Amino acid sequence: MPELRKDPIIQRWVIIAAERGQRPSDFKAETTVIDVNPKACPLCPNNEDRTPPEVFAIRLDGSKPNTPGWSVRVVPNKFPALSLNGDLNRRGIGLLDMMNGIGAHEVVIETPEHNADWDTMTIEQLSRVFQSYQARLKALSEDIRFRYLLVFRNFGVQAGASLSHPHSQIIALPIVPQLAKEKLNSARKYFLEKERCIFCDLIFQEKELRRRVVLESEHVIVLSPFAARFPYELHFFPQKHSHDFAQMSEEVLIDLATVMKRVLSALKKLLGQHAYNLVLHNAPNPVPRPGRPDFWGTLPYDYHWHWELLPRLTRVAGFEWGTGFYINPVSPEAVAEVLKETLEQLQQEERTGEVR
Ligand SMILES: [Zn+2]
Ligand SMILES: [Zn+2]
Repeated sequence: MPELRKDPIIQRWVIIAAERGQRPSDFKAETTVIDVNPKACPLCPNNEDRTPPEVFAIRLDGSKPNTPGWSVRVVPNKFPALSLNGDLNRRGIGLLDMMNGIGAHEVVIETPEHNADWDTMTIEQLSRVFQSYQARLKALSEDIRFRYLLVFRNFGVQAGASLSHPHSQIIALPIVPQLAKEKLNSARKYFLEKERCIFCDLIFQEKELRRRVVLESEHVIVLSPFAARFPYELHFFPQKHSHDFAQMSEEVLIDLATVMKRVLSALKKLLGQHAYNLVLHNAPNPVPRPGRPDFWGTLPYDYHWHWELLPRLTRVAGFEWGTGFYINPVSPEAVAEVLKETLEQLQQEERTGEVR
């Protein structure tokens, strides 16, 4: 019997319609197209002049800006969704609100290697990518026109990636988007009632139940969410309460890189090469709100950053557009189980590989 489930944070319903007898590993991805032509790639080393000048880079060899030698490079998007210059000019005609399309749109080039992905990158390299996010989040949050900073990564054509070179994007928005607002409002309301973080309580409960915990490390916990929208959707939380990813220590970043790499390797083993989106849900930029000095007062206590991993195995269709909610053909509990088995297998393979 299919089951309707409500997301405990934002109250969104999903239909979990797992077919009886079907194992989640029976679920196969459409293979995603990857191009292999580094010469033509504007993000590869030696093509630095084909991107706008860099705004940040990690260069371990002391090389000069906009030359090869970088390990991570951040550049403005050549075709930005929003423009950096100008003021917001908030205005409205009756019910229609408008403002200028002000924002920042940056591309984080994650490695000089054209054919890498997070499962094949070294842990050190992946944590340098996270450090670059932190640096840009801190720099962009200085601009009080920006109320929300979004970090995301599209991998594969089905996930919307137009370039195959490993990269992620940062978009600074002059508004807090609806989904973030729903999470923030729910977290604040819960905190005002209970003086506890809703995410911390959810993590505690999932640890007690143990049915949807995929992986735990010292600093990170990975959950297969109760009301997952998509097959193999996973959420990564810091074990210790924190609202702001930009404030994480290097130790936490290295641990997160280790966990991400393991989980993505397990998914690839199970599903083959597949498209996915990764999205950071971080606290908004606490820009002062006129006349509401306490507006962000509880934010450091009520919000808890997390990454959402969304493999693109199903298509969003009429039902989803018509209802705003989703049909997920795989049960989150079965996903946790099969992923735990696969992680165990991978570890065993690593161990026997060492012996040989
Ligand atoms: Zn490339
Ligand atoms: Zn928390």
